[in-house]
Amino acid sequence: MLQIHQFRCLSDNYGFLIHDPSSGATATIDTPDADEILRQAAAKGWRITDIWNTHWHPDHAGGNAAIKAATGATVTGPAEVERIGQAPDRIVTEGDEVQLGGVNARVLDVGGHTLGHIAYVISTENTAFVGDALFALGCGRLFEGTPQQMWDSLQKLAAMPDATTLYCGHEYTQSNALFAVTVDPENAALKARVAQIDALRASNEPTVPMQLSLEKATNPFLRAPMLKETLGLAGAADWEAFAEVRKRKDTFKG
Ligand code: ZN
Ligand code: FE
Repeated sequence: MLQIHQFRCLSDNYGFLIHDPSSGATATIDTPDADEILRQAAAKGWRITDIWNTHWHPDHAGGNAAIKAATGATVTGPAEVERIGQAPDRIVTEGDEVQLGGVNARVLDVGGHTLGHIAYVISTENTAFVGDALFALGCGRLFEGTPQQMWDSLQKLAAMPDATTLYCGHEYTQSNALFAVTVDPENAALKARVAQIDALRASNEPTVPMQLSLEKATNPFLRAPMLKETLGLAGAADWEAFAEVRKRKDTFKG
């Protein structure tokens, strides 16, 4: 049974340490803040054996070199991580299996935010680490990929079992919620969720991780095909509805 330790770092990032007690292996999902990650691991009494990167952005791979120097950890990630100066020891792509002790993760290509963005899916734990591909009520900005590519990526995540727990890289939920209600105003499940989110944030509690079932019912990016009428896009392709939601979010002033 995998142990997951989640903590805040930088301004709005989440750090995740995952630990397999039977083997003692520990992975950090991304490396937003090397010092904080090393501190958190030491406090747990865990030695970091692995770094699993989701994408190359500095707030996800910028701590690779420092953590590798401090621990000798093996870096696993997409080829694009080379851009940050610490190439992965093992480059992985869609369908690859990654091991942490006795725990297996499957790699999904969820490109769009960056071209090579990947997610790590641990089916036996009903858990996925999705980086900046999917957020609670949001999705990553399209810095490198096309809307069509991102839509395909989100469909892969949506195809996982409903009971999947999603761990994303940032606490952006409250501002995502402000936007979500503008494109999906009649959604009762969304309204109820926004109230829960506001209550959590008022007491400085995380809104991450989240359940895929709730994301599918309330995330306007996943729900884009259901919002075509509201968006004035009846008859458009699903990815075109997604592109419109993404475009509106990019210019949204909360
Ligand atoms: Zn990013
Ligand atoms: Fe990020």
